[in-house]
Amino acid sequence: MDLMSKIVSLSKRRGFIFPSSEIYGGFGSCYDFGPLGVEMKNNIKKVWWDEMTKKQENIVGLDASILMRPEVWKASGHLTAGFADELVECKKCHHRFRKDFLEEKKCPDCGGGLTEPKKFNLMMKTFVGPVEDEAAVTYLRAETCQGIYVNFLNVLNSMRLKIPFGICQIGKAFRNEITPGNFIYRVREFEQMEMQWFCHPKETDKLFDYWKKERINWYLNLGIKKENLRAIEVPKKERAHYAKRQVDIEYKFPFGSPRFGGEAGWNEIEGIHNRGDWDLSNHSKHSGEDLRYFDEETKERYHPHIIETSVGVDRSFLVFLIDAYQEIKGGRTKTTEATKEIEVLLKLDKKLAPTKVAVLPLVRNKPKLIKKAKEVFKLLKPHFIVQYDELGSIGRRYRRQDEIGTIFCLTYDFQSLKDNTLTIRDRNTMKQERVKVKDLVKVLKEKLEK
Ligand code: ATP
Repeated sequence: MDLMSKIVSLSKRRGFIFPSSEIYGGFGSCYDFGPLGVEMKNNIKKVWWDEMTKKQENIVGLDASILMRPEVWKASGHLTAGFADELVECKKCHHRFRKDFLEEKKCPDCGGGLTEPKKFNLMMKTFVGPVEDEAAVTYLRAETCQGIYVNFLNVLNSMRLKIPFGICQIGKAFRNEITPGNFIYRVREFEQMEMQWFCHPKETDKLFDYWKKERINWYLNLGIKKENLRAIEVPKKERAHYAKRQVDIEYKFPFGSPRFGGEAGWNEIEGIHNRGDWDLSNHSKHSGEDLRYFDEETKERYHPHIIETSVGVDRSFLVFLIDAYQEIKGGRTKTTEATKEIEVLLKLDKKLAPTKVAVLPLVRNKPKLIKKAKEVFKLLKPHFIVQYDELGSIGRRYRRQDEIGTIFCLTYDFQSLKDNTLTIRDRNTMKQERVKVKDLVKVLKEKLEK
């Protein structure tokens, strides 16, 4: 089985990600996050949000609605050529493909000839109100940032901000992708974490480099291997319609054909864009509101320029999963029945792992031990995401937890009954230490924050 199939299978088997509407046969490129998936997704969002609103200076948050006036999308350029992909259709099997994804001038499915490229809009249309007439047509947002731009004045005035400052937002976006695929890499409904930095036009180059560095470090600090990460300057003809400069942070995925003539596998996870004054000046023009900023000191009035950092929650989720996935042939413990089996270890960062702690009674047939272990589970539950597991040998249970990235396994054994201690096993080192039950919450919190 290849790596992606293993990731997809683990995700389903252990409750990270399920295909949407699966009992009806699934729904093209939509996925549901299961009990572990939703925890991990929330952890990713929390780490990003804290990074922006706590670590960085002068960034405030926003949660704008998904549905907006259709004029927003006219002003942003999404209803004109800007957000349309060029599509070609196979004359034989009528499958459609993105022109920029094709390496040869024939159909990858049946080898048939292709039509001339045509534009296809990626925005999802919807009808608002009880009557399905044209007046009520709008779109599900294709990027979260437009909600930030249309609130620029509201945020500026209500928070009494001075340039430079940032607004960040996490939310759903929708794109009618022509060629979705590679699991949650390219889907039609996804979440974005976007930060828009408003600054003086003269500052953009310096700030662009600052954000590029910050964003790469974010992944490295969360354990992504350096050799799997790179940032590339996107050539003019490949850039989004609004971008004056664009750097893509790429990850070396186990799929994908070469982009820009490079090595296969490198695909975008985050875009850093210098959007200039494209958005604010267009919204000024279309709305009739003056979105220029007035600098009290210099008496200058101008449309701030925008540096944007934009990453998909789902796409980064996939990166964290793939990068953390390890197989150990024969297992890490030679003394147990794990020998010769393949052991899976999900080395997720402590902040991202969905389950922090598992409570495991050493054996199942001692009612006193089970009772006490359950008490420990209850003690920890308000503080951490904890699992309780008593089924199977202890070695097998450790492996079940390693496979989902649980940071600590606590084993309640016979000595525990005597002295009210238990063992804490570290996922990465497998080292065990004994800790008093009464100190557990404090010790675990310290270890998780270290
Ligand atoms: P691509 O070239 O892969 O289509 P893009 O350049 O259109 O991506 P942006 O518009 O810059 O992407 O969006 C910013 C981020 O949002 C991307 O880096 C990615 O993480 C995420 N994203 C965009 N489209 C999708 C999608 N269809 N599914 C999942 N995530 C997406």
